[in-house]
Amino acid sequence: MLAVGLLLNSFYSVAQNTTFTHADTLRGAITAERAWWDLTYYHLQVKPNAADSSLTGSTLVQYKVLKPSQVIQIDLQEPLQVQKVVQDGRELKYKRDGNAFFITLNKEQKTGNKESIEVFYSGRPRLAKRPPWDGGVQWVPNGKGNTIISTSCQGLGSSVWWPCKDHMYDEPDSMMISVTVPANMKDISNGVLRSVIDNDDQTKTFNWFVKNPINNYGVNMNVANYESWDEVYKGEKGDLPVSYYVLPENLEKAKVQFKQVPMMLKAFEHWFGPYPFYEDGYKLVEVPYLGMEHQSSVTYGNGYKDGYLGRDLSGTGWGLKWDFIIIHESGHEWFANNITYKDVADMWVHESFTNYSENLYTEFYFGKEAGADYVIGTRKVIANDIPIVGTYGVNQEGSKDMYYKGGNMLHTIRQVVNNDEKWRQILRGLNKEFYHQTVDGSQIEAYVSKHAGRDISKVFDQYLRDVRIPVLEYQFKNGAMQYRWANVVDGFDMPVKVQIGSGKDQFIYPSTDWKSVKAKGTTTMKVDRNFYVESKLAKS
Ligand SMILES: [Zn+2]
Repeated sequence: MLAVGLLLNSFYSVAQNTTFTHADTLRGAITAERAWWDLTYYHLQVKPNAADSSLTGSTLVQYKVLKPSQVIQIDLQEPLQVQKVVQDGRELKYKRDGNAFFITLNKEQKTGNKESIEVFYSGRPRLAKRPPWDGGVQWVPNGKGNTIISTSCQGLGSSVWWPCKDHMYDEPDSMMISVTVPANMKDISNGVLRSVIDNDDQTKTFNWFVKNPINNYGVNMNVANYESWDEVYKGEKGDLPVSYYVLPENLEKAKVQFKQVPMMLKAFEHWFGPYPFYEDGYKLVEVPYLGMEHQSSVTYGNGYKDGYLGRDLSGTGWGLKWDFIIIHESGHEWFANNITYKDVADMWVHESFTNYSENLYTEFYFGKEAGADYVIGTRKVIANDIPIVGTYGVNQEGSKDMYYKGGNMLHTIRQVVNNDEKWRQILRGLNKEFYHQTVDGSQIEAYVSKHAGRDISKVFDQYLRDVRIPVLEYQFKNGAMQYRWANVVDGFDMPVKVQIGSGKDQFIYPSTDWKSVKAKGTTTMKVDRNFYVESKLAKS
């Protein structure tokens, strides 16, 4: 996902819901009707009809019984309707509660058994209002008598266009996506194209298979008269199939702009380890919205220009050296698709690291100072409005600061680690330790703290759960500099690099109590620019 409001030149804070509805809980909580079964496989079959912007289809849901229960929750958002639900050939009874369906199973559900149900549905799905931020389904006539169709649904939820277990904690181990479209159009979805079936009614069915766990909002369909080309990237795990799908009128400029893809793969494999989905390949697919991190089907709508629609968010010039959408959305293959949050309250796990990948890409090709310039330059769009961590169990994300403040938090932590190779190994280690998993933010914090060589849990508390920026207060007295942290959470003890007078850079270890260090013949101190903190000369 992308940060909102950048185009509006102002970074507006998102009003934080404080009262939550029954629907928020049904959407955001691991309800009893979700907890007893482990989702293992989906087969989504869908036929979009551009004539009336409707969908018809079904989802086969395979699962393992974790403990006995007879009512299963499947989600599908209004105005879509469930036509019927079937298990072992028999129709089942169900009740609708807003966007959730509670289906009563006839067959006794025994622990350890593998079962499946199929949910048939149809209707006119919610139209995307401002994709990808306010998603749904988009139907865009291409002026040649056909309609381009695309989906985006993070936050809102994939149940906006297909029946599923619409909570992020549980992913299928694999999935088949079958989309039926007019014969002169193509559907590009996630994973590998298994087959294309010619049907009798002037349509074709595209069968895509995803061999890896996939998060709900990563599942997508993209229908257009695509042109395509392929290449093979020689990566850390061998040959990675790479494919590109663009509109015919953009083919030539796409072939130039997408040369950045192998550059991206090289930089991110260096920092994060192997691309996490070699079995499914990497794809870049043109769509009529800005872009989205759909797993093994990253979508692109940045107009074949560098920057963010031609703009540099950092104001340093470095952001105009590369295509924001190719880099940011692809960075999500590691942080969002490989390592996925269980609850959107921890969306920083996706966005802070992926925002941070922008300056790591800049560093890889333009040097360490360029990368630092970029991340520091983005500080001007930090709002410090509300905490980055949202509210658990009600589908409520936190502040949009999860992007730029999150990136600056990670850049600051890198300074505390003070060993670049160790830091790189922490980023690679995260992708190995939590490979293809859904996680709590606390697991990521604990892992970084454990491998950073010092407990930095207070640093995470400060930047993720508070809106205050640490202030290093200092004063000079009797040939010494006294210093302490102010404006911080209790127990905040982050080391910081400073230059006292014209001396060499040195680390000091402030806490909230005054400490002192020798500082003869000087009354100036400068904090290293890479730390996202402020400093203030205390009044003596
Ligand atoms: Zn993002």
